Amino acid sequence: MSGYRALPSVDQLLQSDVGRRLTENHGRQAVTTAIRQRLDAARQAIHDGADGAAEAARLPHLVAADLAVQAATQLRPMLNLTGTVLHTNLGRAIMADEAIVAANVAMASSLALEYDLQTGGRGQRDDHLRGLLCELTGAEDATVVNNNAAAVLIALNTFGQGRNSIVSRGELIEIGGAFRLPDIMARAGTTLVEVGTTNRTHLRDYQDALSDMTGLILKVHTSNYRIEGFTAEVPAPQLAPVARQAGVVLLNDLGAGSLVDLSQWGLRREPTVAEAVAEGADLVTFSGDKLLGGPQAGFIVGRRHLIAQINRNPLKRVLRLDKIRIAALQATLRLYRDPDRLAARLPVLRMLSRPLDDIATQARRLAPQVAALLPEGYGAAPCDCASQIGSGALPTDTIPSAGLRLTGRGGDAPDRLAARLRALPRPVVGHIRDGALILDLRCLGDDADLLEALAQS
Ligand SMILES: *Cc1c(COP(=O)(O)O)cnc(C)c1O
Repeated sequence: MSGYRALPSVDQLLQSDVGRRLTENHGRQAVTTAIRQRLDAARQAIHDGADGAAEAARLPHLVAADLAVQAATQLRPMLNLTGTVLHTNLGRAIMADEAIVAANVAMASSLALEYDLQTGGRGQRDDHLRGLLCELTGAEDATVVNNNAAAVLIALNTFGQGRNSIVSRGELIEIGGAFRLPDIMARAGTTLVEVGTTNRTHLRDYQDALSDMTGLILKVHTSNYRIEGFTAEVPAPQLAPVARQAGVVLLNDLGAGSLVDLSQWGLRREPTVAEAVAEGADLVTFSGDKLLGGPQAGFIVGRRHLIAQINRNPLKRVLRLDKIRIAALQATLRLYRDPDRLAARLPVLRMLSRPLDDIATQARRLAPQVAALLPEGYGAAPCDCASQIGSGALPTDTIPSAGLRLTGRGGDAPDRLAARLRALPRPVVGHIRDGALILDLRCLGDDADLLEALAQS
């Protein structure tokens, strides 16, 4: 038995062949820290009776493994086979090639972000998007902020601070995370005035609540739930004249807000942003990375003098976008000018509109190949799936899809397999249903993506 003296010093390890190689890959400080931690652990083990020489022999391998774990970023590409196309926890929209190219150019170069190339004078960063947004929504003007939550916040703050904001009790939403409408209202400095009941709100409820202190009426698209049965809500076209007469702003928060009618691709009809504008809302807010299929952003479109007021709010500077996202948004919005090719070029729409036949054929083709790559004792069979748009869009709607049902022996077989697939160099994430791990193939591009990912196990 050898003791502490068998252990090398930090310096000896750093100067060894392994130490030098690790330093080249990970940097001196990271390697030194990893060595110190492992040496401490080895001393403790020897104190508890372990053999010093054995501990010393394990050290280089353990240090290398620690550094490899640290280097493997969570932000590596993965396969979203959950069936939820716009998965918030997995980064929502996958962007179009055009947007990726534009974002790359923006990252690598200076560009005239707030600079007028014709006059050499000052420009406005929103100008790169304004024209497109007005053209695509029919609105008079547009402004852009960090995300849709920010769009709602700044609109509430601009028109509701020190005043009341009226909302139907049926539309007091929590989107998830910390976006609960009452809390956002409080932070925006506006007093929430709830009207109606959870299931029924009438026009007279709004009319009764209007006062000198009212700043705005907020209408919220209840994007992540649906109230069914004995219900009544007041549609925007009925609210618009009431708001106008009272001289208050009517804000319609659409959330997902599509720029095109999705029913042409076989999806359920959602009100488009252009429709919400035409219905008479003074302002409409929606997300950049939900159905629109771009990077995270929040849009506010509507009346020119109101947009100008929002742009003068100091919060606008706090919530503004950087050049990378502006470039990606511009490229994404441009795709909408060519609706005939939109589904081919915009990944979100391509995935959502993918024909069931196509997915089912892929599932049948892949089943035996995937089965061959699974650990001993697991099998794969084609199965029916039900995809969802995600991010709160059309929450109760599912889209018929197809995928693979992976099963193994033992009650915890699906969980163990799921953990294994999450640990792959290119993680594969599905969902567990009825004692099996289900991989919905709607969002899988090429067969090879899945086969190569699984072959790395
Ligand atoms: C998603 C959503 C939001 C928040 O949008 P983000 O872009 O996630 O900030 C706000 N309101 C509604 C109705 C939504 O669906």
